[in-house]
Amino acid sequence: MVAIPLVSPHPIQWIVVTGGNLSGLGKGIVSASIAKLLEPYKIVNVKCDGYLNVDPGTINPFEHGEVFVLEDGGEVDMDFGHYERFTNTDSKFSHNLTSGKIFDAVISKERKGEYLGKTVQIFPHMIDEIKQRLLMIAEEEKPEVMMVEIGGTIDDIEESWFIRAIRELSNELGEHMIFCHLAYAPMLSGVEEVKTRLVQTSVESLLQKGIRPDIVICRADKRMTAEAKEKIARFCGIAAEAVMSDPYLETIYELPLMFEEEGLRRLLERKLGLQAHPQLEKWRELVQRIKNKERTIPVAICGKYTGLKDSYASIMESVVHAGAFHKVHIQLHFMDTTDIASPEDAKQKLAGMQGIIIPGGFGRRGTEGKIQVAQYARENNIPYLGLCLGLQIAVIEFARNVCGLKGANSTEFAAEGAIVNHPVIDILPGQRNVSRKGATMRLGAYTASLQEGTSVHALYGSTKVSERHRHRYEVNPQYHDILQQRGMIFSGTSTDEDGTLLVEFIELPNQVFRGTQAHPEFKSRLTAPAPLFVGFVGDIVRQRV
Ligand code: GLN
Repeated sequence: MVAIPLVSPHPIQWIVVTGGNLSGLGKGIVSASIAKLLEPYKIVNVKCDGYLNVDPGTINPFEHGEVFVLEDGGEVDMDFGHYERFTNTDSKFSHNLTSGKIFDAVISKERKGEYLGKTVQIFPHMIDEIKQRLLMIAEEEKPEVMMVEIGGTIDDIEESWFIRAIRELSNELGEHMIFCHLAYAPMLSGVEEVKTRLVQTSVESLLQKGIRPDIVICRADKRMTAEAKEKIARFCGIAAEAVMSDPYLETIYELPLMFEEEGLRRLLERKLGLQAHPQLEKWRELVQRIKNKERTIPVAICGKYTGLKDSYASIMESVVHAGAFHKVHIQLHFMDTTDIASPEDAKQKLAGMQGIIIPGGFGRRGTEGKIQVAQYARENNIPYLGLCLGLQIAVIEFARNVCGLKGANSTEFAAEGAIVNHPVIDILPGQRNVSRKGATMRLGAYTASLQEGTSVHALYGSTKVSERHRHRYEVNPQYHDILQQRGMIFSGTSTDEDGTLLVEFIELPNQVFRGTQAHPEFKSRLTAPAPLFVGFVGDIVRQRV
């Protein structure tokens, strides 16, 4: 890393978002909404996560929600999904600071002798590493606004070094850095009154850490009354107009509009000397479409991480985007496929579902059930969208039941030591000798060539498309011929570094059945929905008329 001075390049304005009381209050959506309101300024969203994993790529989605994948292949916190979806920008791996990354860097510097003679400590070495990284992002990106979200809560031990680093930076930057603190204001059942005490204690805790919030945002069931705002304002030593409501909303996309109504943009502009011009008209119209549930369509999402909906955050949002595009409301039903034993079984369990999504996933559990689901979809012409693992499942099903390849499977799903008769899905050549787990998959944006005349080509309207990836397995080239001879269309392919032809998109002729080895859900935006999702929802809508 180039050594850069610990001085911020002006005139960047900094907004720091912290959270109190409890995690999961929606700091990511708050940060994304603020960034949206400050358009068209160039804004860079940074997230600090306290955990010791270098990145979330090795964390089970059950623990921490979806692993979001960036253009550059970085596996990052799911809040980056919100940032990108709200602001139409692409983030970089370096914008997600984790304690793991910071410790890793400091310890490897120590081993190289960079701190020679010194006792290496949290203060100053870790703190300096954090500050340097933040300033480096500012230096590289040259944004007008740097937004830094501190994950978890201000009282978490593993966030303490981030808070400390930010506090030091704020001393150096003075009025160029402001703090927005999000805290929970519960409403007691039966009393119908929003309680402000928790917000106060949370601000108190922030004050003890040497940070005075400029803006306090209250997450609550309802909007805050003027009286409640006044109370919080007096306690925190800020103006009542700097206390904002973050009430329960039907859709997260409504939050920028709510903040606009609350006067947050004008306040930020005043505090930071900015003048933003967000284009909220189109946004408002799309929000109205999302809220309109007159035409509701049930769709099944058949995965195994269904216990925590955050595991499929980007897919859920992509479905919302495509629904808004087609002016329908898609109601997602999460289905565990572990105990589905036959296509008949699938038919029964999926009765009433008008479309089926098989999302990404890893490991053997639940895959046989998914294969039954794919067979049911193919045989009954139910709109099918296979995402990464969902493409692999579709290929296995087709190999077994259309190509007659008995025992066809993925080598990923074979029991330890077992031989797969027809490994139609096999490990990518470049992955064969990979044993380390972190950041070693085929990750990030890759370009595919689409075949003209296919439905996938029609949806993208282009022969060259780029989508993000996260996988180790692929359609085995030895089976390309038979799959195509029996009717499967490879609508899109790419060539790996070693010359292997990779199947990136598939479809079945005259059917509403598509799959991709990529994850188009990571690039879907409310204002630019992902083509495959638009196609999938479009198929369902057409089948209903
Ligand atoms: N487990 C499969 C692979 O590694 C699919 C991965 C995914 O769905 N993201 O190729």
